[in-house]
Amino acid sequence: MDKAGLVQDIIRTGALLWEKNLVVAFNGNLSARMQEGVLLTATGSCLGFLTENHVAHVDINGRTLNGVEPSSEKLLHLAVYGAFASVNAVLHTHTPYINAFFLKNTSFVPRTFEAERYLGSVQALDQEDINVKDVGPVLRALERGKIVVLRRHGVVSVGADLFECFARVQLLEEQIRIESLARLF
Ligand SMILES: [Zn+2]
Repeated sequence: MDKAGLVQDIIRTGALLWEKNLVVAFNGNLSARMQEGVLLTATGSCLGFLTENHVAHVDINGRTLNGVEPSSEKLLHLAVYGAFASVNAVLHTHTPYINAFFLKNTSFVPRTFEAERYLGSVQALDQEDINVKDVGPVLRALERGKIVVLRRHGVVSVGADLFECFARVQLLEEQIRIESLARLF
């Protein structure tokens, strides 16, 4: 996909997350790998209402190439692309069921067969600060699965494209919703 196509993909994915209540306010950030550098949502942007002006083009060191200031999670995004050649998209968001569940738990195994096969056992990491400063534990967790939870923060999903990242977050959120509903019966 060319640059314009990837920018549209970022805008569409942000709107979809917003529509499905998988992001609120100014939370979350999205990125896509380019042949040279990375496209990453701007700092302080609302994922539900992105325009072309909210997408930063950064080089591999995180320096902006188009004057748009990238998200404060740029270190995390760039480290993932550096570590995994097969990853072309990274999605980070904060969702209510995932965040609530992992306040009290450190791992989760989906209840339905299909989700268990697709997601496997999902791990959560403790985090010291508002942003990810130590990317090492996140990269190690992503060697075992394509989604990892940051406790008291949110979730990081990686994949071949943004829709794959989105689908994984949507599925995990739904599975934890099922888990919480199951506790009613
Ligand atoms: Zn965050």
